[in-house]
Amino acid sequence: MPTASSSLDTLCIHAGQHADPLSGAVMTPIVLATTFAQDGPGAHKGYDYSRAGNPTRTALEGCLAALEGARHAVAFGSGCAATTAVLLTLKSGDHVLCGDDVYGGTFRIFDKVLKQFGLEATFLDMRDPARVAEAIRPNTRLLWMETPSNPMLKVFDIAAIADVARSRGVPLAVDNTFATPMLQQPLALGATLVVHSTTKYLNGHSDVVGGAVMTSDDALADRLHFLQKSVGGVPSPFDCYLVLRGLKTLGVRMKRHVESARGIAEWLEKHPRVAHVRYPGLASHEGHALAARQMKGPGGMISFDLRGSLAQASAFLRALRVFACAESLGGVESLAEHPAIMTHASLAPEARHALGIGDGLIRLSIGLEDPRDLVADLEAGFAAAARV
Ligand SMILES: *Cc1c(COP(=O)(O)O)cnc(C)c1O
Repeated sequence: MPTASSSLDTLCIHAGQHADPLSGAVMTPIVLATTFAQDGPGAHKGYDYSRAGNPTRTALEGCLAALEGARHAVAFGSGCAATTAVLLTLKSGDHVLCGDDVYGGTFRIFDKVLKQFGLEATFLDMRDPARVAEAIRPNTRLLWMETPSNPMLKVFDIAAIADVARSRGVPLAVDNTFATPMLQQPLALGATLVVHSTTKYLNGHSDVVGGAVMTSDDALADRLHFLQKSVGGVPSPFDCYLVLRGLKTLGVRMKRHVESARGIAEWLEKHPRVAHVRYPGLASHEGHALAARQMKGPGGMISFDLRGSLAQASAFLRALRVFACAESLGGVESLAEHPAIMTHASLAPEARHALGIGDGLIRLSIGLEDPRDLVADLEAGFAAAARV
């Protein structure tokens, strides 16, 4: 078992997990049972019904909590279910101040689901923490942000915004999906809650949809566990097992994602067909110094503006053979997508343009293939775009 001082690379593999007491099996069993025999009424071994609690899920939650340095983790059936559970801790009339440029599905939960229950949200570019302080209202009950953001890869100052939040008595939730705890630990920087889509880097193999919330606030954790069982957006035991399995390689995967993405971002920045590259590891990124301070690496996501039209962006994506043209991110395989048409289609066109999501914007999730093959593939894409 890991100790309190174990490094994240060790915790990824061991935290929350014990050899099975019955057989000694070193991998966590997948407990499919929906119900658990009790010695007598109410005399159970910690589990009574699998929506309320499941041993495979407990192992996953233990691992996820350790990675974010949290006392608690609460696992959900998707990142959106995790986000919704956090928002269900609020009530009608409350206001959420949210970073702009958030995951499209998060925006949709605010705009199309919880608005009708009287939850109000406003969206703000949080690069200047002073603007965050000004935008907090008397009824603001939660600050929400993603950093690096999606798809513009803006970097927000977690420690500075957490200070603002604390001084106003408002919890800060950080969606840490893009960075992962290997590169950034929001709770250590003062955030109250961390949210993940485990679908992405944490599972890392594009074969599970899942989510989680981590916190060291005992009262909030109680409330989230209550919502997990009451609303019921729980992950299956098999999915919990797959995420645990994926997590074992998170440390080595993130090193390689960062190394390859850094090289490809530098190559793209020099490419004549590229107007602008957004990657926090580049000196040209306005958040470069902040990213270097608050992150252990700039991550595996790159956005860039292809010089040209929608038709050229489309030709570029159609020509790729190693990169799949697909939504999502964080898997071992490289993906490329067009935010305006694909992931961020739920934003109004004006909102997309205000964020800088134009017709030429392409987002890359750099996988674990040989980066030379990825560069050759992108070069073929640029050649195809030039022929349009
Ligand atoms: C994918 C994603 C989500 C939503 O997670 P699902 O698992 O797809 O429900 C939330 N935030 C970010 C940053 C994401 O990339």
